[in-house]
Amino acid sequence: MTDMRDVLEARRLLASHLPETPMWSYPVLNAVVGARVHVKHENVQPTGAFKVRGGITLLARMPDRERGVVGYSTGNHAQSLAYAARLFGVPCSIVMPEDPNPAKVAAVEALGAEVVIAGAHLGECAGHARELAERRDMRLVSPADEPEIIAGVATLYAEILAARPGIEAVFVPIGSGSGAMAACLVARAIAPSCRVIGVQSAQAPAAYDSWRLGELVTRPVKTVVDGLATGAGFASTQAVLRGGLDDFTLVDDDEILRAQRILLTEAHTLAEGAGAAALAALLARRSEFAGREVAVVCTGGNAGPAELDRLLAA
Ligand SMILES: *Cc1c(COP(=O)(O)O)cnc(C)c1O
Repeated sequence: MTDMRDVLEARRLLASHLPETPMWSYPVLNAVVGARVHVKHENVQPTGAFKVRGGITLLARMPDRERGVVGYSTGNHAQSLAYAARLFGVPCSIVMPEDPNPAKVAAVEALGAEVVIAGAHLGECAGHARELAERRDMRLVSPADEPEIIAGVATLYAEILAARPGIEAVFVPIGSGSGAMAACLVARAIAPSCRVIGVQSAQAPAAYDSWRLGELVTRPVKTVVDGLATGAGFASTQAVLRGGLDDFTLVDDDEILRAQRILLTEAHTLAEGAGAAALAALLARRSEFAGREVAVVCTGGNAGPAELDRLLAA
């Protein structure tokens, strides 16, 4: 199990690859929310999302990395692996589901990785990726079930809580749950009174229902928010979230869109849907957090063309 020592090691390792991301508070946003809100800006990572912390940590520690890596992802995990593979000069192939976000495909290819389109959804991609990895003797990298990825992602929460030890709650969007799991590990170790609150789209509630019911369930994926579009609870992350997550909030896709617009106008920040979900959850629970000091993680800014159209439509 990943512990604080692993996180601190990852922090040292990442220091030579990624600067600490900014965390800003915006007076107009505070006024809209009615709380002291800190926005942690993972949208400014070189890949536009927090996952690159995990990808670099994994590849930096992988002993036989010349073999190369195979991943499966709707986009941001893909870019993370592709970025890290390029950094360390190793081959990388990514399996993506049919009808992928074109911006994310272009970004992965521009990083020099191969994109293989196979499977109707992420679950099917996993099978194709496993086959490809076996055939080419490359290492299959799971989006969540990798201790190095968790340690790398956890550096994000270490940065938040080191910069603002008084934060009372941190809102974390959940897809596979790796980010939230990392948040729980860090909060428990260095800020036990800080609540970790998960957020998912009501249009794809598999992680939420798995957490609430205490068993892994699958649910239909109807959300347009691709970072949160997971159809099943993940065993490895749910095991930690079950006891570690203080609360979990569902928000509708249109509440997420509204939060995206607020980030755009009040925080001059372009967030993809998943990157605005944390703010959407805070807005949904604003009476409970009135006047409190909280962090929302803007996990990513990779909005595709269709999403940008929705965002800018009146
Ligand atoms: C992957 C991702 C999430 C969800 O993170 P998990 O660790 O899979 O729960 C949230 N936001 C963005 C932008 C992502 O890329």
